[in-house]
Amino acid sequence: MSFSIPVSIPRLKALHAHNLRSDQDLLDFIPRRYLDRNSVSSVGMLKGSGEEATIIGTVKDIRQADKRLEVIVEDSTGRLKCVWFRGTAYFKKLLSPGDEISVFGKVQRFGAWLSIAHPDVEKIKDNSQLTKTVGTIPVYPSNNFFKKVWLGSQQFQQWALQLLSRDTLPDLLPESVRLRLKLTTRHQAYLYVHSPENLKQANAGRVYLKFEELFFFELAVHTLKLRSASKPAQLHFNGPGELTKTFFNEVLPFELTAGQVNALKDIRTDFGSGRLMNRLIQGDVGSGKTIVAIGAILMMLDNGYQAIFMAPTEILAEQHYRTLFSYLNPLGVDIRLLTGKRKSSQKKEILNAAALGSPMVIAGTHALIQEGVELPRLGLIVVDEQHRFGVEQRARFSSASIPPHTLAMSATPIPRSLALSVFGKLDISVIKGLPSGRKPIKTGIRPDTKREDVYQFLDTVLTDGGQVYIVYPLVEESEALDLENAMDGFETVKGRFPAHRIGLLHGRMKADEKEAVMQAFEAGDTAILVSTTVIEVGINVPNASVMVIEHAERFGLSQLHQLRGRIGRGSRQSYCILITSPKQSKTGRERLRVMTETNDGFLISEADLRLRGPGDFLGTRQSGVPEFRFADLVEDEALLQEAAAQVKLLLADDPELKKPEHEQLRLYFQKYLNERRKFFEMM
Ligand code: ADP
Ligand code: MG
Repeated sequence: MSFSIPVSIPRLKALHAHNLRSDQDLLDFIPRRYLDRNSVSSVGMLKGSGEEATIIGTVKDIRQADKRLEVIVEDSTGRLKCVWFRGTAYFKKLLSPGDEISVFGKVQRFGAWLSIAHPDVEKIKDNSQLTKTVGTIPVYPSNNFFKKVWLGSQQFQQWALQLLSRDTLPDLLPESVRLRLKLTTRHQAYLYVHSPENLKQANAGRVYLKFEELFFFELAVHTLKLRSASKPAQLHFNGPGELTKTFFNEVLPFELTAGQVNALKDIRTDFGSGRLMNRLIQGDVGSGKTIVAIGAILMMLDNGYQAIFMAPTEILAEQHYRTLFSYLNPLGVDIRLLTGKRKSSQKKEILNAAALGSPMVIAGTHALIQEGVELPRLGLIVVDEQHRFGVEQRARFSSASIPPHTLAMSATPIPRSLALSVFGKLDISVIKGLPSGRKPIKTGIRPDTKREDVYQFLDTVLTDGGQVYIVYPLVEESEALDLENAMDGFETVKGRFPAHRIGLLHGRMKADEKEAVMQAFEAGDTAILVSTTVIEVGINVPNASVMVIEHAERFGLSQLHQLRGRIGRGSRQSYCILITSPKQSKTGRERLRVMTETNDGFLISEADLRLRGPGDFLGTRQSGVPEFRFADLVEDEALLQEAAAQVKLLLADDPELKKPEHEQLRLYFQKYLNERRKFFEMM
């Protein structure tokens, strides 16, 4: 792919470095913002109080005074001085007395003179279009590569206009949709964004581009959904049986929340529907998703099936195993733990038992699938912390010979718009609210110079029988450094709290060592757990009510929220203390501010999405999730829903897009799908 217009080799390289490779890429490279220079002033009207203005006049005089260049410009109402302190040679050469010019800049009064320092200047020639000083001036994104090859806004605009003047772009959206929503044509939209007469046009162009982008995305979601809808389940279901009833009526020590009850009802309905379940339980950290999963597992066991419970880390898999064991072993359920680090003889034993097809539950990490567990009566796969699994890993779960139901759980709340579109084929149950009796976590920021104050606070908590997490960050460049951090921290903490037992947990420990450390903390044998981020997901120790996060500025928002979700799980008032070093970026500070302002995972994920962008947010940037060039999934939610509605109307009218008036649309859509096949197949 290359450009049909002449571009020099160095510029070509700069464009390629920015992923601009085709004519269409150039058209899609749209201005970041616009400068409103629509009204031309006359000199006589200017105040000289720093106002920005465009003046059109004649060059009367050019003087060089020391290093300074002064150009006197006159219109019919007065005179004005343009002044340069740098780049004087260039302007001296450019301008001569008598030239008609247009200048733009900040007007200031010095004594008798009105003057503009370093104005934008354009010479007015016959037929020439003013692109810098008059009108709505586009400002394109810039970077150092572009600057090195003198690639600026004017050139990008010129290229776009060159391409647009050569061919008329065909419309893609059905005319009925365009008219209904009062959108411009596609060609006009590109003209508007690259060369608007006013901001209103620029906006109309931008809205068109956003809508078109969302429309094709929704079209993909809807057509693919049609194709894969009503996958019949080859699993029978006769409702919940003895195990389920006994568990909820006799074993469970607390009342379910309304959100938990509803999620369980949804699951039961799915099981009974004769179709395969693909459901996401979305609930904030601590909302009690595990119990819902256990309920689903029990219903499957009652119907003679096997279930697996997948966790992203060994520590979490082990914890789930212990939870399942304590709840379900008394009911006589066969529960196994399978992680990558189990001895192979143990694994073999588990695999053999599983292959017999007897009802059982296996908790484990993704080593489970990688090693090809054979579960002839697999009825349900539970995927905890679903956002942590790559798209591809998820796809592999569903390649079993008799496809099982899937229940995914995520604490990373997906903004509504994303849930609707990106996870179009997923049904979602939202668990709103937390179990009763929880007190909102209080979060504060402390500079590392105040660490001793924080430790004194910990003294009081520990004396009161509370437990504490102290977390050290992941240093990305070096796992060793990461470890060193936590090790140093561990020694410091040990020295500072000699009266208490302190545990250390990090990713380099062997599985059974980790398990022992977690068990000691869960049992209350250790009062402080010093840890790296391995405890980030899922860990549940309700008596631990304080979390100190060192170098908090280095963590991402959703990671901080996950970490903080480890506390606030019991009846104690919980505190999260974010310790920061003086070196902080602006977004780092912003993230921490968000953390102190809210405990609401939904708001946090929205802020996260804003600060990072959706691809990153989904953790699937490498897996081919389409990136949105124009639309913003949070800001443009209304437009997304409109696109979905219009897509439904279109498909009702022409499900196969076979009508002649939809030919352009169909061709473009095929190309669209081809380029994103990998992603859409996974959905
Ligand atoms: P998450 O949704 O973050 O996975 P968990 O399932 O780990 O949360 O539950 C957090 C804690 O809340 C656990 O200790 C669990 O036993 C407890 N819990 C769950 N549901 C309830 C409830 N309805 N009432 C009281 N405590 C509950
Ligand atoms: Mg959990």
